[in-house]
Amino acid sequence: MIEFAKAPDGYSGKGFFVTSFEKAIGLARKNSLWPLPFATSCCGIEFMATMGATYDLARFGSERLSFSPRQSDLLMVMGTIAKKMGPVLKEVYIQMAEPKWVLSVGACASSGGIFDTYSVLQGIDRIIPVDVYVPGCPPRPEQIIDGILKIQELVGKESLRRRHSPEYEALLNQYDIE
Ligand code: SF4
Repeated sequence: MIEFAKAPDGYSGKGFFVTSFEKAIGLARKNSLWPLPFATSCCGIEFMATMGATYDLARFGSERLSFSPRQSDLLMVMGTIAKKMGPVLKEVYIQMAEPKWVLSVGACASSGGIFDTYSVLQGIDRIIPVDVYVPGCPPRPEQIIDGILKIQELVGKESLRRRHSPEYEALLNQYDIE
């Protein structure tokens, strides 16, 4: 039998299965992430391969890409981010509805990569919080998928209260985000 989504921990008996509300929401969220691909250069090409038939991101419930921040919950940043583009990226992040997660794909997005210059942002975590980093220049589609699986792990386990916690507020304050 094909297992589409692993059931969360719970109690089962003849004809019933019980789990917590939080775990049920986590299960739904992790298997229906809607990515917003913010692709600026070569790493974006690897992402295109990730969406193609061979790697097929649809297997993980993430085939529905959105270029509208309000209809997506996973910001995937792929490529070199010039300092001039920083405010645009931050605005896109702010416009995304909570809960939202960020995947930094490749060396450029994560650290500026080989472009240690005056014009390139030395890592997107200087302007927005990042949940998972994917190394590589460029990372292969398998690595991008691995990054998404790591995000799924976080999403599935995240407490429903986290986004209302003082710690989360403090994190956003660090980035000057209300
Ligand atoms: S990490 Fe490498 S492949 Fe990716 S955008 Fe930068 S230079 Fe291109």
